[in-house]
Amino acid sequence: MKGVEAEFIDFHVHMPYWIRDPVKSCRRLLLEELTAGAISAVVIGVDASLETIKSRVTPREITEAAMEDFDYLAFQQVGYIGRMIMEPEKFLDDFLGDFHKHRRGPEDLRACRSVEPRFFYTIVSYKPGMEEEVAQIVRSDSSILGVKIFPTFHFTRPDSQRLYPVYKAVEEAGGLVVVHTGCDPGPWELTRFCREARPSYVARAAKRFENLVFVIAHLGAYSALKPGIYFEETLKALSLENVYADTSAADPFFAAMAVKEGYADKILFGSDYPYVSGYNVAMAVKDILSLDIDNNDKEAVLRYNAEKLLNSLPRGRQKPG
Ligand SMILES: [Zn+2]
Repeated sequence: MKGVEAEFIDFHVHMPYWIRDPVKSCRRLLLEELTAGAISAVVIGVDASLETIKSRVTPREITEAAMEDFDYLAFQQVGYIGRMIMEPEKFLDDFLGDFHKHRRGPEDLRACRSVEPRFFYTIVSYKPGMEEEVAQIVRSDSSILGVKIFPTFHFTRPDSQRLYPVYKAVEEAGGLVVVHTGCDPGPWELTRFCREARPSYVARAAKRFENLVFVIAHLGAYSALKPGIYFEETLKALSLENVYADTSAADPFFAAMAVKEGYADKILFGSDYPYVSGYNVAMAVKDILSLDIDNNDKEAVLRYNAEKLLNSLPRGRQKPG
């Protein structure tokens, strides 16, 4: 790739879940990122309310949701989704029983800062019913870059008033909000369960909080059954000044499309490591480098857009350390 700097910022990454010790997990992540050529990474926490999930994802709901997606299920044949539909009760027990393995709270993220404060930015996860607590965490820890909302398993629309105290705290701190969009592994592959994770709802929140930066994760495109599910909404939302999108877990085709539609300066590279199985950070970078777009745009997506955005934010400027 003549002329393209392969140095990059990974704007969407998670702590390896198979290493529970947070310091060791962050060290493993650092190694992965440095090996691939990263100069900085934004580590995103994961949290949820199991009560909320249990009340919304029942075996009966799964069966009904599967009926709605019947044609897609028959066509795509995603193995574990088939098992989930055949045995929804067992699937839910296993899935919810495993959730704690993936939970990463503010204290876990702090470990990454202790491992390499000049490399890692951290984003804490929202948790339904804990709006004031999350807002307080953001206010009290100036090393936190922002908050992530998972409208899928949080069952919270990004424009929900419930989130206003959180948005207000991040806005006042000078941070940013990342919103998961599209579907999500687990029951959230069924479209009934991902319908709250729409970029158009992010756009509504972004219009209400004009001084707050929103990042649409996965370009609104991630879905095993319907790849590109809400991508058109992402393109519309990107016309708002305070809205960006990250490339993580979306087919790189959509990143190229967004660039060609004129949003080269709004797209941030993200690997979603280690949550895309069989894929790593270096492969995600390679995918961007091999896109049929200008070299300047590749560099913007991989590094310069993230640098500019971070420099524009009080919480992004205070370079860790
Ligand atoms: Zn992610």
